[in-house]
Amino acid sequence: MVNMEWLEKYAELLVRIGINVQKGQTIVLAVPVESADFAHLLQKRAYAAGAREVVLRWIDEVAARITYDLADDAIFDEFPEWSKQFFNGYADKGAGFLSIVASDPEIMKGIDPKKISRSMKVRSKALEYFRMRQMSNKNTWCVASIPSAAWARKVFPGLSDEKAIEKLWEAIFKSVRIDQADPVQAWRDHQRALTQRMDFLHASAFTALRYRSGLGTDLTIRLPENYIWAGGGETCPEGYVFIANMPTEEVFTLPHREGANGKIVSSLPLNHNGSLIEDFWFSFKDGLVVDYGAARGLDTLKEMLETDEGSRRLGEVALVPYDSPISNQRILFYNTLFDENASCHFALGKAYPSCVKGGDEMSPEQLLAAGVNDSLIHVDFMIGTADLSITGIKADGSEVPVFIKGNFAPGIDG
Ligand code: ZN
Ligand code: ZN
Repeated sequence: MVNMEWLEKYAELLVRIGINVQKGQTIVLAVPVESADFAHLLQKRAYAAGAREVVLRWIDEVAARITYDLADDAIFDEFPEWSKQFFNGYADKGAGFLSIVASDPEIMKGIDPKKISRSMKVRSKALEYFRMRQMSNKNTWCVASIPSAAWARKVFPGLSDEKAIEKLWEAIFKSVRIDQADPVQAWRDHQRALTQRMDFLHASAFTALRYRSGLGTDLTIRLPENYIWAGGGETCPEGYVFIANMPTEEVFTLPHREGANGKIVSSLPLNHNGSLIEDFWFSFKDGLVVDYGAARGLDTLKEMLETDEGSRRLGEVALVPYDSPISNQRILFYNTLFDENASCHFALGKAYPSCVKGGDEMSPEQLLAAGVNDSLIHVDFMIGTADLSITGIKADGSEVPVFIKGNFAPGIDG
C-alpha cells in the first residue's frame, strides 16, 4: 500500500514548491488516465493554494499506441489547430503547466521510429511558440512522476504489479525527499547546496570542460561567452521561483553549439518516445555529431539525430555527482526525469536561452550567434560513471579539477 501521508505531502510539494501556484493563476495539469485519483488530489491542493482554474489534460498512452497501430498514416504529419490553440492560449494567459509522467518505457516497441519522429516533429513545430515561452521560463512548469503498473514492471521485473508499484513509490518518495521529516525545508537546504556549486562554477569562469571516463568518453566542450549556470529552481518574469523538474539534482549550462570535440559514450539506456536506445556513443567535430553508434535502438537514435541540423549539436551540459540521493538507490528508472538526475548528462538539441546573459530577450538569430543551439528536440542522455573526471580549463590555459572519480572535487561541496 502506498503511504497516504507521504502521498498528500508529495501533492503539496508539487503544488507549493514545484509549480508554485500563485493566487488567481490557471494551472494546466497533465496526468495519465491511470492516475486519476492523484490528479484529483493535485486539483484540490492547487485550488487550496489559490488557483483560479485547474484544467485537466488526460494522457492515455495506450490510446496513443492504438493510434500508431491503426490510424490513417497521413495523420502523423498533422497537428490539430485546436490543440495548438489549447497550449498557446493558456500560455498567453500566464498558466502554469504541471505534468505528471508515468510512461511505459516500451509502449511504442515495434512502431516504426520514422512514424513517431514525423509525429513528434509536426507537434514540436506547431508548439514552437509554447515551447519558446516554456524554455525561457515565461510560463512556469514542473514535470514529476508517479508509478504506473507498466513502468513499475520494467523497473522491478519479476515482482507482482502491486509490489513493483509499492517499490517504485518508495524510490520516488526518496528521490523527492518526502521521506524526510520536513520535505519543504529539505528542498530549501538542497537548493542552497546547489547554489554553492553554481557559485564555485561561476567564480571559476571556465572557458572549456574536458571529460574522460573508462567507457571511452574523451570530450572537450567550449563554453560560450556570458554563459550562466542554473539549477535548483527557475525564476519567472513575475519574480517567483518554480522547480521545472522534481526531482532535480543537476546544475547545468550550455556548451557553445560549435564547441564540442571528441567522443561521448552513454552510461545508461535512454527511453526516447517509448523506445529504448542502449550502449550508444557520439563523435563530435566542431559541435556536430559526425559519427555515432548504438548496441540497441539504432533506428530510433538515427531518427532523433536527423530531426534537423540542431539535433546533431549539444544544447545542455549538466553536472550531477555519482554519489547523490537518486543514484545511490542504484535503480535504473528508464525515465529520463530520474536517470538524468542520477548522472552527469548532456542534451542534444535546443539549449535553454536563459543559460546565456540576456538570452530570454534575444531573437533566434542573436541566440545562434551567441552559440545557443536551436532544434525541435531537446533530449537528455546520461554519461556519468564512477570514474568520470571533468577538468575545468580557464582562459589562461590553467586547469582545475571539477569532478574526480564521479564526484565534485573536494572543497566544492562545502
Ligand atoms: Zn538536465
Ligand atoms: Zn535537459
